[in-house]
Amino acid sequence: MLLATLTEICDFLRKMITRFAPSPTGLLHLGHAYAARVAHELARIHDGSFLVRFEDIDHTRVRPDYYQAALDDLAWLGIRPTAEPWRQLDRLETYAAALEKLRTMGVLYPCFCTRREIETELAAMPAAPQGPEGPLYPGTCRHLSRAEIVDFTALGREPAWRLHSAKAGALCGHLTFRDLRCGEMAVDPTLLGDAILARRDIGTSYHLAVVVDDAAQEITHVTRGEDLLPATHLHRLLQNLLGLPKPLYLHHPLVTDEQGRRLAKRDHDRSLRSYRDSGLSPGEILAILPPLPF
Ligand code: GLU
Repeated sequence: MLLATLTEICDFLRKMITRFAPSPTGLLHLGHAYAARVAHELARIHDGSFLVRFEDIDHTRVRPDYYQAALDDLAWLGIRPTAEPWRQLDRLETYAAALEKLRTMGVLYPCFCTRREIETELAAMPAAPQGPEGPLYPGTCRHLSRAEIVDFTALGREPAWRLHSAKAGALCGHLTFRDLRCGEMAVDPTLLGDAILARRDIGTSYHLAVVVDDAAQEITHVTRGEDLLPATHLHRLLQNLLGLPKPLYLHHPLVTDEQGRRLAKRDHDRSLRSYRDSGLSPGEILAILPPLPF
């Protein structure tokens, strides 16, 4: 009890650090402007720090000029990071070490399935397992024998690495995270199924990299779109397995278009750059964003 109180006091006294984590695979749009503003304002009013981290592990879709374009667009809005931005492609060795730690804990398994094989298997199932965004991995490779793994490897097939979510959940026991809008949430360890933690092409994944980096950058408040709320269940599990601190969360509403669809990189006409080019001022952009959620 005393320990819990001390932890709470330390958390309270810790300087707030927030972050914005765009992927440099396109120009920033209004949704990014809002996400960056939420993180930046929260840190600003609490005299904290605001960091930028480029989620660039989707290396085939990244374009070098998008990094600077993002920073320029943010600066135009008056949003500047407190320190030099990080790039996830610079940190692959750190993710590999985290993956190795999970592997030695026995909570990962290699998966040799192709996307097509998974789709075929799901289509043949009378009741495919469902997650928040559609069917989940059906668990095909969960119980491969050592001999089967050797056979696949001999065929030259590189595996992806998946989390054995039921095993991980059993190992961690009851976990929670706190969201500033939704309150205290109990973690459902199998919500996203056996998610991929290391893609075969890059040896990591969004989930693993974001958890490792939020801890490494000592992020106290993770602010991001509410579409990522389900992912936070998995992230909390990974934090616990890897012995990393538990940040606070703020999952904010998404900026949508007139049809209520979330904005995407393909909506080029809604990029901040196109608004800038058409003569809108930063103040006018900020005025059309939804109100801050705090
Ligand atoms: N790169 C993600 C996005 O642009 C953000 C992920 C995160 O903040 O954890 O939606």
